[in-house]
Amino acid sequence: MTPVEAFERVVHCLDRAHATGFKVRAYLTARDTVLTTPAEEIERRAKAGTLKELPGIGDATARLITETFTHEMPPYLAKLEAETQVEVTPEAQVYLDALRGDCHLHSRWSDGGATIESMVRTAIGLGHEYLVLTDHSPRLTVAHGLNRERLEAQLADIELLREQVAPFRILTGMEVDILEDGTLDLDDDLLERLDVVVASVHSKLKMERRQMTERMVRAVASPHVDILGHCTGRLIDRRPPSQFDPDYVFAACAAFGTAVEINSRVERLDPPPELLAIAIEHGCWFTIDSDAHATGQLEWLPHGCRVAADGAVPIERIVNTKTADELLAWVAWVA
Ligand SMILES: [Zn+2]
Ligand SMILES: [Zn+2]
Repeated sequence: MTPVEAFERVVHCLDRAHATGFKVRAYLTARDTVLTTPAEEIERRAKAGTLKELPGIGDATARLITETFTHEMPPYLAKLEAETQVEVTPEAQVYLDALRGDCHLHSRWSDGGATIESMVRTAIGLGHEYLVLTDHSPRLTVAHGLNRERLEAQLADIELLREQVAPFRILTGMEVDILEDGTLDLDDDLLERLDVVVASVHSKLKMERRQMTERMVRAVASPHVDILGHCTGRLIDRRPPSQFDPDYVFAACAAFGTAVEINSRVERLDPPPELLAIAIEHGCWFTIDSDAHATGQLEWLPHGCRVAADGAVPIERIVNTKTADELLAWVAWVA
């Protein structure tokens, strides 16, 4: 294992265990130093014990580099691998086993921390058959949302990468903002070109209930929208759920074939159980998605699976238990 590979795996493990940012940043800084220093110098300094003279390398990161030269599997990394396993309850495992892909995740193109290729390689390692890349749409400037030009560049990039990772499938998509009036933050011709579209509310979450209901119903009724992302927008202990009439919104999801996402991020776990029950009653479709912004977060699906198991979501209604081709056929069928 090279020092760079070791650092990236450490970051992956810290991410999946919800570690705080500063620790992750320390390893990423050290990785960047290694990337810009000749390999012979790194090895020579590891032997001489002078790694810490390099910028951004401290005790822990120097030790990890040294361990990559003395051990096949650095002991620090082995320990971290064991300590950061994401727990899966037996009930959640049933759902996890049924999932074949992940329909909501981000790359460095918007506010994610990893390249598309790293996300793909990680997804392959997790046994996924496909992923849908859903970076943010233009209005979400804080998250470097993609405008037409950048989305087109991304689609060209994905096209090239597809051949290298086959038979794994990369489906194109976007997490499109639902604007205040319920229209979508992307032109129709681009929406048309994407394989799978997630639509989410990211602004004006405190909108009055009736207006929010109309806004969401309009969005999920769009023939371009396939999945309603994190429907209440809540951040547990930080931001209350937005208010809408769940009967109208979920009836519209069921009628227009828009899946209700079960978002696996622990600060979201959206929809909350009482809303999930209403969506099931309305006969909605569902997805269980990671909404990952880093490779380690692709391992968060068990949290969403636990929500699904607790709510007894019918597995046959979860669209990412389908194969990629079945998913695309579903998208075309419900459009
Ligand atoms: Zn979102
Ligand atoms: Zn997202």
